[in-house]
Amino acid sequence: MQTVYGQMSDEQLDRVIEQLRDQADQVRSRGLTLDMTRGKPSPEQVAISLPLLDTVDATTDLHDEGIDCGNYGCFEGIPSARRLAGELLGVPSDQTLVLGSSSLLIEYETINMFWLRGTCAHAPWEAYAASHSGRPPRILCPVPGYDRHFAITEELGIENVPIAMTDDGPDMDEVERLAATDDSVKGIWCVPKHSNPSGVTFSKRSVQRLATMRTAAADFRILWDNAYAVHDLYPDCEPLANIFDIAGAAGTQDRVVAFGSTSKITFPGSGIAFVAASRRVLDDISRALKVALISADKMNQLRHVRFLPTLADIRAHMARHAAYLRPRFELVESKLAAGLGASGCATWTHPRGGYFVSFDGPDRTARRVVALCRDLGVRLTPAGATWPGGRDPRDANIRIAPSYPSLEELSDALDVFVLAVKLVAAEQEAAARAESR
Ligand code: PMP
Repeated sequence: MQTVYGQMSDEQLDRVIEQLRDQADQVRSRGLTLDMTRGKPSPEQVAISLPLLDTVDATTDLHDEGIDCGNYGCFEGIPSARRLAGELLGVPSDQTLVLGSSSLLIEYETINMFWLRGTCAHAPWEAYAASHSGRPPRILCPVPGYDRHFAITEELGIENVPIAMTDDGPDMDEVERLAATDDSVKGIWCVPKHSNPSGVTFSKRSVQRLATMRTAAADFRILWDNAYAVHDLYPDCEPLANIFDIAGAAGTQDRVVAFGSTSKITFPGSGIAFVAASRRVLDDISRALKVALISADKMNQLRHVRFLPTLADIRAHMARHAAYLRPRFELVESKLAAGLGASGCATWTHPRGGYFVSFDGPDRTARRVVALCRDLGVRLTPAGATWPGGRDPRDANIRIAPSYPSLEELSDALDVFVLAVKLVAAEQEAAARAESR
């Protein structure tokens, strides 16, 4: 990247650094405490769902289509919640399980099951290393991506393999090459709609290629985390192709396991979470989970379906969320464009949904920018978090999470962020010149 600082004379550069340091001192003296670390809905967004709490009280009939939600039973989830989960993930309701409140936990349990038991009569992934001279199974990880995904596979001893993300989804040439030639490649993490953090929605062609590509591993799995399935900021967002339909037609239906939750629809951590897969894979998941679960919180499932009975209700509800989120994302865009657009220092994504903006500064600056922001009172997701093992080889990517702060706080936080990027980039240029002298 050729930056504005690279084009300045030494004297100009020194003067600019001095000015930026003065500005940083002024910010520091304000004692700000602003938080842009994680993608959390703002308090106003959470308030939209408060009437959900009034849908079930002591006088409520606790039956859902004949199922008594006040007692044990119905491990797979109550019928109306399964129907809704099926609509959200694009499968018939009998291909879903609606469980507790965390999709991440279901993801962990599912992959743990692949690891310990295997699916569809294939050997457990754990056994792969023993029969292949200690070579661990591998999972493809589009980057920048979601740190908690990478943590799950890393924790089990699976090797995370970074794959570049493009505007259409993962670099499919590379995905196809690795999947077809290496039988240790057992799957791929995907956040296919409004991806975390790039905001990319996979193109129809990418979805088709994923569902139909040749895989050396017969038990290759697409871990389809559709966490942002209905999280559009604008009414004309690009739809996501139905991977189950494509895989079904291609005979690869056992390849896809989809996850979702209402964490960013109703209450983060207190929503309902679900998984969808072929009947065969779903039976394996159920068998593993039933060892430790008699039935999930059906009362919460009931509250959710009474509050949001249909997909149309969910879409209307999400439009209310978007009214809070849209101005925040538009503020990020305008502040970054005004502050850094002409600097040659940065590129960033322009998401049309989801919860994040993915920012790339000059190489070897992200850690210092995040540290400087922290020093100035603005907390960001740690640099490197968007890469497996927390190691961004270019040290360039930063995830911006604009949803939680108020617009005023966000505006202050973005001013600090822009200042930090400029100062670190200018200092880096000065250091490079000093070194080459
Ligand atoms: N997947 C993705 C892609 C996420 O961004 C998040 C965080 N909201 C989760 C899963 C976690 O969801 P849950 O609260 O359902 O565990």
